[in-house]
Amino acid sequence: MAENVVGRFAPTPSGRMHLGNVFAGLLAWLSVRSQGGSMVLRMEDLDRERTSEEFAETLRKDLLWLGLDWDTETAPQSQRSRVYEGYFEKLRDLGLLYPCYCTRSQLHNVNAPHQSDGTYVYSGTCRNLTPAQREAFSRAPAWRVRVPQETYKLEDLAQGPFSQDLSTQCGDFVVRRADGVFVYQLAVTVDDGEAGVTEVVRGMDLLGSAPRQMYLQKLFGFPHPRYGHVPMLLAPDGRRLSKRDRDLDLGQLQKNFAPEQVIGALAYACGFLDRPESVSPKELIPSFSWSKIRGNAIYLDETLLFPGQLL
Ligand code: GLU
Repeated sequence: MAENVVGRFAPTPSGRMHLGNVFAGLLAWLSVRSQGGSMVLRMEDLDRERTSEEFAETLRKDLLWLGLDWDTETAPQSQRSRVYEGYFEKLRDLGLLYPCYCTRSQLHNVNAPHQSDGTYVYSGTCRNLTPAQREAFSRAPAWRVRVPQETYKLEDLAQGPFSQDLSTQCGDFVVRRADGVFVYQLAVTVDDGEAGVTEVVRGMDLLGSAPRQMYLQKLFGFPHPRYGHVPMLLAPDGRRLSKRDRDLDLGQLQKNFAPEQVIGALAYACGFLDRPESVSPKELIPSFSWSKIRGNAIYLDETLLFPGQLL
């Protein structure tokens, strides 16, 4: 029986989408739709201070404006603490959790930087504290999950083979913060797993998170999805496009362009089109292929993309 392909958009509603988010969303959509699969939308609003329902509503409208539709929207992460709690307890039952009392400054002083994403490799300071040592701390702990000496390997749709040894390249990682909030790694694993997601397509900056998520998938009994980590878009001067580049957020783009122009510019930048012409996502389905998406960065050449306008 053919696999039932399920992909997802998992935006953080903390601002307008920028061109890099649009690019990752476009590839997620094209990959799924070209296989006849379905799309799930999920708002990743664990950070209650930075996110809002207004931004979520704008994101939905922006996706639809671009022609990127979805079949179901699942509950936002802020409403799922009870569900995450159940999985957290599962980790506790497996004997894999321990409280960590390290302060932020201790973590950054003592621990080595993580190779791929700039976070650190946890040195294990709180791994073997005695009950008496734990009681001596008067503050609430964060909770870490122990990682095995195991290498997680994946064949990324855009980046090719990638592997990470969790114990030496990551270390035991936090799944619940001291204030009780569950962290992204746990929430995303649970949400993708419960929604039956078979394909995770997102920005290159999250490639280093995939092995942690694969480890949690194994512990929770979810199958591993396929991964596609989409190259970063760089401005001609090599600057990474981010939410800070207000000029390239969808609010600005909508003032100056039709959705087909934005989609066409991205399709041209990654080689789906020979010229930057207006096109809808649907019209790109026949020319979509992961083999055209390679490497970790795509430069947007301002002389080629709507000269002087898009960048
Ligand atoms: N919510 C994350 C973001 O907006 C994406 C997480 C994911 O795709 O796994 O950057």
